[in-house]
Amino acid sequence: MFENLSERLSGVFDRLTKQGALSEDDVKTALREVRVALLEADVSLPVARDFIKRVQDQATGQAVTKSVTPGQQVVKIVHDALIDVLRGEGEPGALKVDAPPAPILMVGLQGGGKTTTTAKLAKRLKDRDGKKILMASLDVNRPAAMEQLAILGMQIGVDTLPIVKGEDPVAIAKRAKTQASLGGYDVYMLDTAGRLSIDEELMAQVEAIRDVANPRETLLVVDGLTGQDAVHTAENFDERIGITGVVLTRMDGDGRGGAALSMRAVTGKPIKFVGLGEKMDALETFEPERIAGRILGMGDIVSLVEKAQETLEAEQAERMMKRMAKGQFNMNDLKMQLEQMLKMGGMEGMMGMMPGMGKMAKQIEESGFDDKVLKRQIAMIQSMTKKERANPQILQASRKKRIAAGSGMDVSDLNKLLKMHRQMADMMKKLGKGKGGMMKKAMQA
Ligand code: GDP
Repeated sequence: MFENLSERLSGVFDRLTKQGALSEDDVKTALREVRVALLEADVSLPVARDFIKRVQDQATGQAVTKSVTPGQQVVKIVHDALIDVLRGEGEPGALKVDAPPAPILMVGLQGGGKTTTTAKLAKRLKDRDGKKILMASLDVNRPAAMEQLAILGMQIGVDTLPIVKGEDPVAIAKRAKTQASLGGYDVYMLDTAGRLSIDEELMAQVEAIRDVANPRETLLVVDGLTGQDAVHTAENFDERIGITGVVLTRMDGDGRGGAALSMRAVTGKPIKFVGLGEKMDALETFEPERIAGRILGMGDIVSLVEKAQETLEAEQAERMMKRMAKGQFNMNDLKMQLEQMLKMGGMEGMMGMMPGMGKMAKQIEESGFDDKVLKRQIAMIQSMTKKERANPQILQASRKKRIAAGSGMDVSDLNKLLKMHRQMADMMKKLGKGKGGMMKKAMQA
């Protein structure tokens, strides 16, 4: 149904030859296609416009890497910018559920998937975090909704607050709070009533419940397939109730996910989870990468982006190798190496999961090369001037003091870094001079 963005872009860029950098016109032409793709993915017009402008500024003048087309490069820039917008602060999927019993308020329109999501989330908190959960339905208008939650609770092995006929929602919320304290629950979840559309009565009710429960999290559950309506709903709920996050449901459907982008851009609230089906375990942490790929509408986006990234890194590495072969290894090169290692720091976790590799992960940890050390070392290099990075030998006491202070470290830490740099530079020099050109071989490998 949708034309693939990369196909579109390759058409545009076929006519272009590779130049040193992306020109303003190149970028403009490409972004026209991106804009259409965003609108087709149900991103709202103002959000699409803002986004395009942001990317335009970012992309113009960027160096074109050798082995990807300018079109592919623009796609990568767009992809990265999408992820940037989609990613909220904090860890995705993290909920504030300390200080038991922690109340979680679930709000949203009827049919959005609120009750289902309440149960899914309860199951997740129970299974993954070992929390003891109490769920309560406050939907006094629809007895069926209360029973639905009770049935789901039985299915997943989570307690629900007994139903008392004739009780109003605020009274139920109070009872849930008391019960949660007495029963030693870690979390209690309040599943509020929904309406077909937003009305004053609903808002006033949810407000009153909020004031009684004082929730740690207020999660809005919206149907991801409803696109702009979902964004509108989120704006309304946030203005009136104040939400801490969003759960987008029905993301297993064939929607293009544009609502996610508009949602983030308009409300500024993090999307914490996505619902991917009716089953109780069909709830996942929101992953910006996945949605970005979906918005751009291409199955090959990931490999494309990876290829562009690899090319960029390979070109950088090649430049570094060439410099090293000449016996040049300055602080910028060291920084690049440290950043590379930092990336591999993520591997430490991965290795820990692989059979037999746990020991190696431990060794890395013991050698002191953990992320923190690397980040500090990078921070010290960042505190150096351009000139200092190119010629670290000019670093005298006063400069050292400044750099250490600038990065919140001691001069002794800086000295350690400089020593490491000298050792590495020496090694590079030797390798560079080595007969048969070890460097050359390494470069060909
Ligand atoms: P509520 O009125 O907001 O409480 O909505 P419900 O929780 O009763 O959900 C309405 C319908 O949507 C039910 O049939 C659910 O099984 C279904 N549903 C909820 N979440 C999802 C989802 O992520 N994907 C799909 N495919 N269906 C969902």
